[in-house]
Amino acid sequence: MRDPFGRDITYLRVSVTDRCDFRCVYCMAEDMTFLPKADILSLEELERLCGAFIALGVTKLRITGGEPLVRRDVMRLIDALGARLGHGLEELTLTTNASQLARFAEPLRAAGVRRINVSLDTLNAATFTAITRWGRIERTLDGIFAAKAAGLAVKINMVALKGVNEDEIDTMIAWCGEHGFDLCLIETMPLGEIEGDRTAQYLPLSLVRARLARRWTLTPSDYRTGGPARYETIGETGRRIGFITPLTHNFCESCNRVRLTCTGTLFMCLGQEDAADLRAVLRRETSDDALSDAILAAIARKPKGHDFIIDRDHRRPALARHMSMTGG
Ligand code: SAM
Ligand code: SF4
Repeated sequence: MRDPFGRDITYLRVSVTDRCDFRCVYCMAEDMTFLPKADILSLEELERLCGAFIALGVTKLRITGGEPLVRRDVMRLIDALGARLGHGLEELTLTTNASQLARFAEPLRAAGVRRINVSLDTLNAATFTAITRWGRIERTLDGIFAAKAAGLAVKINMVALKGVNEDEIDTMIAWCGEHGFDLCLIETMPLGEIEGDRTAQYLPLSLVRARLARRWTLTPSDYRTGGPARYETIGETGRRIGFITPLTHNFCESCNRVRLTCTGTLFMCLGQEDAADLRAVLRRETSDDALSDAILAAIARKPKGHDFIIDRDHRRPALARHMSMTGG
């Protein structure tokens, strides 16, 4: 699948649920209303859609959410997708808050998952609960260590929040180094109506990087995961650190991904409103050709770049949908 700007689309992120057992302050409002079950694709529908994408050239799938591991019977889908590894699909991965990972680490590994991303913004128990509202750090740490014990490579995703966890980045680098995890720092993105003022939490990673360079030996790396992160190697720990700066445009030109929500809506760009309703096609058409045609028509509309702007006067998000819809 090649889009109008010559980019090959090989990476699909699939949100399998909009629900979550956390309420992270930058992601969700505390009193979120979730979608009715009839709107959500069944596991069989998700599998059929993913199969259509794989047939069209997608080689990498990431399962996300909401929290993917709170979706009932999610392993049925992951096992079915894992069976496609080596048959068009090259990599199956997951992004999780790790609260349920202690139970799922072994089954994920058995399904063919080899690396996962875990969101962990702090190692401080009180700050963890302040950020996630409903989370307990012990469970997340248990999950992370279960993943390590199961032989999964772990990358920690840390959203950098001004005045909240910005003084903990050194500690996180050292902790990741000690346990053999890569780390990715993420800037907050203006997605979804949440309580509070977003601009107050916005911490530019250019500033973070400059501060880190005083303490750590950072060497730019050409390592790429097909994602937007720019990586550097940390001399003292030997691990990588990635920087994801979504508000800049520096990765749009190599963007290889599209995002499917749990309702079967395909977003061609995280930072744009345009989307294709694949659920309607899926529920109307039994032929896979019609599904492929709908996917290709959507890819033909993939925009050149995103359009994030924080509306500073009104302190509202540029896009009203929450990150838990498109899975980040
Ligand atoms: N629940 C899983 C988790 O937290 O890893 C998967 C879904 S979550 C929406 C995916 C990623 O998006 C997480 O790393 C989270 O920190 C990030 N995220 C959520 N809202 C964000 C925002 N407004 N800005 C930047 N990153 C955000
Ligand atoms: Fe849940 Fe992940 Fe959003 Fe936090 S970031 S509320 S864990 S979906």
